[in-house]
This record gives sequence, C-alpha cells and structure tokens, in this order.
Amino acid sequence: MKTLTVNIVTPDGPVYDSEVDMIIAKTASGEIGILPGHIPMVAPLVVGAIKLKKEAKTEYVAVSSGFVEVRPEKVSILATSAEVASSIDLARAKEAMKRAEERIQSKQDSVDHSRAELALKRAMNRINVHEGNF
Ligand code: ATP
Repeated sequence: MKTLTVNIVTPDGPVYDSEVDMIIAKTASGEIGILPGHIPMVAPLVVGAIKLKKEAKTEYVAVSSGFVEVRPEKVSILATSAEVASSIDLARAKEAMKRAEERIQSKQDSVDHSRAELALKRAMNRINVHEGNF
C-alpha cells in the first residue's frame, strides 16, 4: 500500500516526521482527508487536531494556525504551534482554559475578546488531543 511522508514543523523546530496512510486536517473551509496521490494544494489551517492514520493506529497532533501543503507523496504542515498528544502539559492547558474563560466573562473594556476566544480554542484543543476526545 502507498504511503505519504508527513512532516509538521513550527518556528521552534520539527515536531513530527513519519510515513502514514492518511492525514485528516482541519482547514479554514472544513476538514480534509489526504491520501497518497492527492492533488497538490495549499490550505490554511485552523486550531484543531491533525489525525495521522498508520495501519490500525491513529496519532493526534494539536495545532494552532498554519498551512498545509499537499504534494502527491509528501505533506508539509507549517504551524504556529504543534504538540503530539504525549507532549501536551494537561495542567498548563487547563490553566490556560480557565484564564481565557475568565477573560471572556469579564466585563472590562480592556479585554480583547477575540484573542481570549482563540486562547480558549487552543487550550480546549490541547485538552481534547491529550485525552483523545473527538
Ligand atoms: P499558554 O497560555 O499556556 O502559554 P498558549 O495557547 O498561549 O498557552 P501558545 O502561544 O499557543 O500557548 O504556545 C506557546 C508555546 O508553548 C508553543 O511552543 C506551544 O507548543 C507550547 N505550549 C502551549 N501550551 C502547551 C501545553 N499545554 N502543553 C505543551 N506545550 C504547550
């Protein structure tokens, strides 16, 4: 069976590099499934889980914004941040979620609500990826 090479890179360095059977990613226009031989394309990514299917196993990587570049045999993901499930610090993500929720509920004018909403999405995504909740 044909496979795809996938690498996930952030400004801090490479996070994931492997051969997989299928990749599922959340783009700005919806979830896409990428199999070997996919037509070349570039799409913006939103906060979500990258699902990497390899035989009977699926690995999950939490990413925030970025881009996915698809070529027939290689997929490159450039993300602002990316963490494989096992490297997610759950306590940190829960703290970030609490802070973001408090900011969203705050009536203070100085609070940037869209920034707090995005921080909440990142934190919830990390919690879901760590716990395997989809
Ligand atoms: P925090 O408020 O906890 O910093 P954040 O959403 O603002 O969360 P980011 O700016 O998205 O954090 O990420 C900054 C760096 O910290 C990135 O390298 C990211 O991979 C890492 N990071 C953030 N949260 C976690 C976490 N819960 N577990 C592991 N790494 C994390």
